[in-house]
Amino acid sequence: MIKGFACNNPRAPVSAFSYDAGTLGDNEVEIKITHCGICHSDVHLIDNDWGISRYPFIPGHEIVGTVAAKGKNVKLTLGERVGLGWQCNSCGTCEFCRAGMENHCKKNQPTCVAHHGGYADGVRADARFVIPIPAALDSAAAAPLLCGGVTVFTPLHVHNVHADAKVGVVGIGGLGHLALQFAKARGCIVSAISTNANKETEARRFGASAFLLSNDRAALEAAKGSFDFILVTASADVDVPQLLDLLRPRGKLCVVGALPSPMQLSAGQLIHGDKSVVGSNIGAPEVIRLMLETAASHGVAATIETMPMSEANAALDKVRAGQARYRIVLEN
Ligand code: NAP
Ligand code: ZN
Repeated sequence: MIKGFACNNPRAPVSAFSYDAGTLGDNEVEIKITHCGICHSDVHLIDNDWGISRYPFIPGHEIVGTVAAKGKNVKLTLGERVGLGWQCNSCGTCEFCRAGMENHCKKNQPTCVAHHGGYADGVRADARFVIPIPAALDSAAAAPLLCGGVTVFTPLHVHNVHADAKVGVVGIGGLGHLALQFAKARGCIVSAISTNANKETEARRFGASAFLLSNDRAALEAAKGSFDFILVTASADVDVPQLLDLLRPRGKLCVVGALPSPMQLSAGQLIHGDKSVVGSNIGAPEVIRLMLETAASHGVAATIETMPMSEANAALDKVRAGQARYRIVLEN
């Protein structure tokens, strides 16, 4: 039996829950979990913000642990340290799976939707999504890389954001503080754009050379037309027209935060300056490997607070209150 903490109803606290995961498939891995980060998407799932949650479910998709059991086709070794993110399976045969874009497979199976996730002592996944953790990375600080890290690394990689590009990161939370570090590691000139003045010192430590408060009209006016790439990681609505004004011609606004309201876009704002707005969904297994190698070689790590798995509700309350600096990681 796998023992964890499940949410039984929308917005309800999690409570002790165990389940029988059945016979292990030939391509499956069972991970003995040591750490699981709390991504804001867990909160969206608990609240059923996206209408896709299936109760009861164990949240958690920033998982680090060791291989406890494996099917006969699995090449990982027992006891090996591994990670698992938002996605735990895909069809394996469609054009996207064959092209290394498993995150776009129509049968993309999330780790904690109609499947039990990582606020637990174990989790099952298809071996293609179970990625070895480089030795240089600490387990607790690596856990948030498995979703938050790859979600911000992927758009920088896919859009080939070059060294010296001027990059803005909107929302300095779990994703945002990793985005500042990965953009800096690429050699970009990085600015943090935040609603919270108290984050300036840390944002600069994460790699920002400028800090813009999102209500500082004068500073935003001065920064108009200066950014090549702006990555929106906020979990709440942001002023999209204002951010589009900050872009240079050919600049891109990339949205990864699950903004609750429809975005306000005018054709004119896109036409003048050939600007584009794009989205980005997590990251494929090969990109997770590359992201972990980059984190290991450039010293990118989440700034974390660890709490025991049994205190998941207190930890979730802190995330809801915006008090996580910058990621809470549950520990077994
Ligand atoms: P988080 O740690 O809670 O950080 C979110 C940040 O958003 C906060 O630190 C804050 O930054 C900003 N924010 C929060 N409330 C705000 C408000 N009322 N007004 C303006 N800004 C506000 O969340 P996270 O784990 O980084 O996740 C961020 C978002 O990304 C979530 O919506 C999550 O579901 C989504 N996500 C998407 C993907 C994907 O594949 N696209 C993957 C993972 C997560 P400041 O204090 O700096 O303003
Ligand atoms: Zn996530």
